[in-house]
Amino acid sequence: MLVALPLLGWGQAAPGPQPDAGSTAAAKRPSQVHQEWPYQMFYLGYEAGLHRDQITFPEVEGYQVLKGEFHIHTLYSDGQVTPEVRVYEAWRDGLDVLAITDHPEYLNVAFPDDRGRAYERAKHLAAQLNMLLIHSAEITTSSTSSASLRPARNSDYEAHFISDESPLSGDYPSVFKSVSQDQRGILVWAHPHTEWVPEARELLKSGRLDGIEIKNTQVGNRLGTQFSLGTWFYPQVMDWCLENNLAVFAVSDAHWPIDLLVDRSKGERRPMTLVLSKSQDPQGVHEAIKQRRTLAYFNEMIWGSERWLKAVAEASLQLSYAPADLSGFSMSYFSVENRSSFPFVVRFALNEGDGSISFNAGIPSLPGSLPKTMSLAPNATTLVPFTLKKNRDQSSPLEIQLTVTNLLSGVDRPLQLRHILKLAN
Ligand SMILES: [Zn+2]
Repeated sequence: MLVALPLLGWGQAAPGPQPDAGSTAAAKRPSQVHQEWPYQMFYLGYEAGLHRDQITFPEVEGYQVLKGEFHIHTLYSDGQVTPEVRVYEAWRDGLDVLAITDHPEYLNVAFPDDRGRAYERAKHLAAQLNMLLIHSAEITTSSTSSASLRPARNSDYEAHFISDESPLSGDYPSVFKSVSQDQRGILVWAHPHTEWVPEARELLKSGRLDGIEIKNTQVGNRLGTQFSLGTWFYPQVMDWCLENNLAVFAVSDAHWPIDLLVDRSKGERRPMTLVLSKSQDPQGVHEAIKQRRTLAYFNEMIWGSERWLKAVAEASLQLSYAPADLSGFSMSYFSVENRSSFPFVVRFALNEGDGSISFNAGIPSLPGSLPKTMSLAPNATTLVPFTLKKNRDQSSPLEIQLTVTNLLSGVDRPLQLRHILKLAN
């Protein structure tokens, strides 16, 4: 039987040593509140079916592929859940990195004694679950007092790796300077709408803009998103990132529980940003974003620069010749091992002079029985039959072309790869 702990209000002391009265107590209160907050692991431990999704990629050129959420809210601003719930959701959904990005305008409104904000409150639980929590905030330009920079509509920026939110709701240029210069943080333009706004340009020009969101699930079909490839997002952002050497991000921006935004019962996954990091620590993630080694993973697609899409695909897909005549119809096979949990969707082709993929399984009278575009099951091996032309040297290496239709650097730019397959035993 579950025994509920007595319900305590935030800031109210839990059983144990009571804080002293007076100003000394007020100064001490935040850290004591964190230590005494009684809920964080209690109910979590009683959750039925507590488990974590495994989203795996092999190492890519020596980098770990970390899965991160870089834009999400809690009760510390206009979100509707506690920081602990955000940590738990992220852990359950297979993420490694979480940046809670509450608005600094709520600093004196939501838990005003608690200057360390959601970050301080959630970091113990995050550490227990081996998750990396980043101290972040979301800056809203409508709060600026600088009339010259105030745009026709507001625009928002995620500030990551900050140490103090206090300077982040002031005048515009000074806010940006505080994040990128004084606090050595990172700035990402959130839900960017259809065109560059003056302050985003200004940030870009001054070298302070690090990335842009291509996908923000919370905004859905609002704020200038386009419907393309089955979902609402900002496809033009990929060009903006490539042209200006910026990191691309996919985020939820959830305000309510993530399950109200992402329907897990339909097999949906929350959007996430893949970070190719040297290590699973703040320095590693910071360096990876600065070096633009990010990819945006949403709606079973991965978006990014060709450079890193290629690296992820080549690390994940292992092609080899599988000399076997399984059908008795003089066909050959190559096998494709998918070493990740991402379902790469691939169209294979051979050069015309060499032969063809045997979509009819080698029986000319059969209509094509293999789909021309195959979804390569996660952590599994797929056999692909092919037939070589009779006049071709049967043992010289064979070029295989792969079009990975769900790895994209633009709407019409699926990743193209070539693999040279050795046919000799
Ligand atoms: Zn937001």
